[in-house]
Amino acid sequence: MRFAERIHRLLLLRFAGVVALSMGCATLVNLSRTEALEEQRWVVQTYDVLVATERFGTLLRDAEIGQRNFLLTGEACDLGLYRAAIAHLARGIEDLTELTRDNSRQTARIAQLRDLVEQRLVELQEPISLLSRRSPESPRTVLRTDRGRELMQRIRSLIADLRGEEETLLKGRRTRAGIAAQAFGVVSWGGAVLNLLLLALAYRQVSQELSRRAAVEERLRASEARQTELAMKDALTGLANRRQADEQLVASLALADRTGSALSVILLDVDHFKRFNDEFGHPAGDETLRTVAKALLSGTRASDVVCRYGGEEFLVIAPGADEAGALVLAERLRLAVSRREWPRRAITVSLGVSTRSQRKTDPAALVMEADQALYRSKHRGRDCATHYAQHGDLAG
Ligand code: GH3
Ligand code: MG
Ligand code: MG
Repeated sequence: MRFAERIHRLLLLRFAGVVALSMGCATLVNLSRTEALEEQRWVVQTYDVLVATERFGTLLRDAEIGQRNFLLTGEACDLGLYRAAIAHLARGIEDLTELTRDNSRQTARIAQLRDLVEQRLVELQEPISLLSRRSPESPRTVLRTDRGRELMQRIRSLIADLRGEEETLLKGRRTRAGIAAQAFGVVSWGGAVLNLLLLALAYRQVSQELSRRAAVEERLRASEARQTELAMKDALTGLANRRQADEQLVASLALADRTGSALSVILLDVDHFKRFNDEFGHPAGDETLRTVAKALLSGTRASDVVCRYGGEEFLVIAPGADEAGALVLAERLRLAVSRREWPRRAITVSLGVSTRSQRKTDPAALVMEADQALYRSKHRGRDCATHYAQHGDLAG
């Protein structure tokens, strides 16, 4: 697996880990929230049972009061209170049954309550029916029995039991709801903090990876730039190499063509260099080539391009130099070399010059002419400069 792929997979794994942890956290928060809501729902339900029980007791009292008052006054409005209370009592018992469905003890109590209340309602109805039928039997005879009181005591006791159980339940449920709410708070905060930490961790990972990549890219760029520089430079002298010289010459000629300005090239060759190498060794020869390069650089302008053209040959591209100017430059370069203090023996160069003209714009032709002029210089006895336009045609 490639390095980049391995890093990518590693980052992906870490990212998946962060997402899994974050989702686990969210699930925990959600569970805790559901738990807290559920406990709260039980508390509300207990309150509902207590309210329904209270209401049931009130309706029963209303039915009794309505009946008594009607028996005493015979007023229809009192009978109305009695009937309304009875009608609501039926609904009340249904509500209680529904609300306590989850609790078998309470369900049994309510079944009992339903039974007793039905008996009590039959009893309440009896004197009213006697009165309505104008029966000779006095309703008081019914009222005087202890049966009603006894039924009411049992009903009250049942309601008290119902309430007692709900109040006990309420205590426990409120405690649990409080704990669940606290747990929800802790889990939410903990989750938020953990998520922030995970985010910070992910950010750190990504920024570290980006910095690492930036550093690698920077190194690559620097190495590419160095490679390009190496490809264009001569390793021995540090001058532009032949490849760069050719490119430079094409560009300089194109510019000169466009602007109509002059341009000359000078080809230089170290005289009897083979003999020098044979006599003083190759390393001394290298040192000499480096010194010739320095001498050429010192004799040219910044706009001129000095290249090592190969072996002990150098090429100078001189933009703006016409025939006369190029010859002056060639002479200056010749002297710059020959007047150096050479440690082993005098070093001289022969030079061939060629200048661009309207007819002649081909870089290869220009260099070829300079080469022919150089050949002529060698023939003239070396350590001299020849312009192709003057003597180049005599070459060979
Ligand atoms: P001429 O005056 O006719 O140019 O004679 P010459 O001896 O200079 O010419 P020739 O072409 O016979 O020999 C060139 C020599 O240059 C041969 C080669 O050993 C030497 N040379 C070429 N490149 C290098 C280099 O990088 N280092 C060293 N030390 N010598 C080199
Ligand atoms: Mg040569
Ligand atoms: Mg030579």
